[in-house]
Amino acid sequence: SRSDSSEHPSSSSSSRRGSNPARHHVVILGEDNVGKTSLVSHFLNSEYLTGYESYCDTLEENNERSVSVLIEGEETELTFQCESSSDITVDDTTFSLTAAFLVVYSVTDRVSYEYAGRTLALLRYLGTKLSTHILGSDSFPKALILVGNKADLARSRTVTEEEGRTLANKYNIKFIETSAAITHNVDELLVGIVSQIRLRSSMMND
Ligand code: GDP
Repeated sequence: SRSDSSEHPSSSSSSRRGSNPARHHVVILGEDNVGKTSLVSHFLNSEYLTGYESYCDTLEENNERSVSVLIEGEETELTFQCESSSDITVDDTTFSLTAAFLVVYSVTDRVSYEYAGRTLALLRYLGTKLSTHILGSDSFPKALILVGNKADLARSRTVTEEEGRTLANKYNIKFIETSAAITHNVDELLVGIVSQIRLRSSMMND
């Protein structure tokens, strides 16, 4: 079945349990106060949550939150981990166990935008190491999305949408502006994460 092909390097599942859905680890990076926690809270209330048992499990110990979503008829479990450290810390192990990275900045905070740029540079460096190692190619092995949050705060905006797009284009990744406050583009972001993960999985399994 489809879910049996879910064992690939970016799956963080260590135990295979029958036809359970693929479980993927998502790390959210960005400066303090850009809205990472708020975005995750919205993901945990998304209309895409699987209806049956409304699975929503909080793993308090390591600040991870898991959710099971049903998108395009296929179930996927995502575990979100917010990294709120002001130092960019992604080690090789975390990198290999992670299926997707969201790099979040606030459109009202240029420093957070610059921080996002440095984070993307680090991820690209780690990705190049890993893809050369595992894939023998230079294709980036992880889903990676640049997120400009707080798009509702038009009057205090200091980073234009164009600047966000330019940064994303530099790394050839997806870009989306969101607002956790007015729930703008939050479901779109969730769907984007899942479809990017599925795309990478199918490439890895080819
Ligand atoms: P984190 O430190 O990156 O996890 O940021 P939080 O999710 O804790 O959000 C920091 C502050 O920004 C909180 O007061 C949120 O209510 C607020 N906030 C988060 N997202 C938005 C947004 O899209 N628009 C507005 N206006 N405020 C937001």
